[in-house]
Amino acid sequence: MPFADLGLSDDLLRAIGDSGYNEPTPIQAGAIPPVLMGKDLIGIAQTGTGKTAAFVLPMIDILGEGRSRARMPRSLILEPTRELAAQVAENFEKYGKYHKLSMALLIGGVQMGDQVKALEKGVDVLIATPGRLMDLFQRGKILLTGCDLLVIDEADRMLDMGFIPDIEEICTKLPKQRQTLLFSATMPPVIQKLAAKFLTDPRRIEVARPASSNLNIDAKLVETRSDKKRDVLRDLLRAEDVTTAIIFCNRKTTVRELATSLKRSNFAVGQIHGDMEQAARIAELDRFKAGDINILVASDVAARGLDIKGVSHVFNFDVPWQPDDYVHRIGRTGRAGAKGKAFTLATREDNEAVAQIEKLTGAKIARADTGASEMSAPAEAAEERPARRPREEAKPKEERREKAEPRNDRRDRKREPEPRRSEAPRTEAPAAPKPAPQPRRELEPADEDGWNGPLPSFLSIGLGD
Ligand code: AMP
Repeated sequence: MPFADLGLSDDLLRAIGDSGYNEPTPIQAGAIPPVLMGKDLIGIAQTGTGKTAAFVLPMIDILGEGRSRARMPRSLILEPTRELAAQVAENFEKYGKYHKLSMALLIGGVQMGDQVKALEKGVDVLIATPGRLMDLFQRGKILLTGCDLLVIDEADRMLDMGFIPDIEEICTKLPKQRQTLLFSATMPPVIQKLAAKFLTDPRRIEVARPASSNLNIDAKLVETRSDKKRDVLRDLLRAEDVTTAIIFCNRKTTVRELATSLKRSNFAVGQIHGDMEQAARIAELDRFKAGDINILVASDVAARGLDIKGVSHVFNFDVPWQPDDYVHRIGRTGRAGAKGKAFTLATREDNEAVAQIEKLTGAKIARADTGASEMSAPAEAAEERPARRPREEAKPKEERREKAEPRNDRRDRKREPEPRRSEAPRTEAPAAPKPAPQPRRELEPADEDGWNGPLPSFLSIGLGD
């Protein structure tokens, strides 16, 4: 079915065309018509299925009619994490470029004052994490009585993070006559109850999970500590028969810093992340495909859709926050019937994220048997061994010991709010020789509690021209 049959406006179809989409995904085809008709909806789908556009697209057309009023947002989207909230904001920017809608992002880690200013002007779309929204509400800075379209996204994740009481309270502050859309990957009883209480005669659309991980991929989990990750990775890169590898990090800063660090260790490394211009990303991919570099350090921009033949290894320098990102990331290897290997470096902090991945894929990731000698050689010793270069022998760089590297572990993991941690017993890599000194870097103010995304432009932006 083409997008044109879903009842969306011409402006929206133009923006969809600009995004390069040929046809709606099943969740979009199922959800968009009833949402445009004003129905409540339960969408059982997870990220990777195109579910964001399934609610953002009809919302843009619904909100295209009518005007915003000061301090009274017209619609509200609740997201469990600031990363997801920012992703939804990006979607509004992308698909709403021919509309004149305004939006505000209300998430932790951003100065409250800026968010209040944005709200005071009046916004069509408010995208919020429940904690920050409740905070502003309690300060009397926001009225939800004009908000007659509500989206509760990732409801089961909200449940895991302890947000359900907040959501119930938020629902009572919205007008009773409203349209409510609830998306969740699974429907545990608490979410079913929530839906029964706050949705009216909802349509229910369920779509299949994205493909699980592939049998050609030998996946291993390497348990380590944050301050050992770089050493462990370097050792793996040297010990494994790496032809080409993609190393995934959760944050762009980590991508940059890790790529620099690996270059210093003589690896032939490139990088790709969302802050780079498209032309620069393509150039870097071309170098990778041509074999000028054999290691690509990447953020999740490279996790989906990237089809490069012969990637022998994927390394997750960070455990992805979203379990299906794990499936997408490791799916860059083991393609077209080839065998591939995927190593995920996990610290004790990652226990819950690992459990989520194992729940999604339905399989426990084998724990790598990492002896102390293999996994925890000090950085200095590792540097002495030349790294394999794809085309030529390692060029002896001028003798230089790697400088102490900045760390941003806190930034790498911390989210708002802290998800509940499982009480799994601590398992750590064997005791290792003393690591190279790593001074703690001061965090930039905008990154104070973990955010490193493109925030300021989303605070209150006019969409379109
Ligand atoms: P989501 O499930 O919303 O996280 O979307 C997953 C990915 O699918 C995003 O990168 C979207 O840009 C992309 N996407 C959404 N809708 C379509 C579509 N109809 N065709 C192709 N890609 C899409």
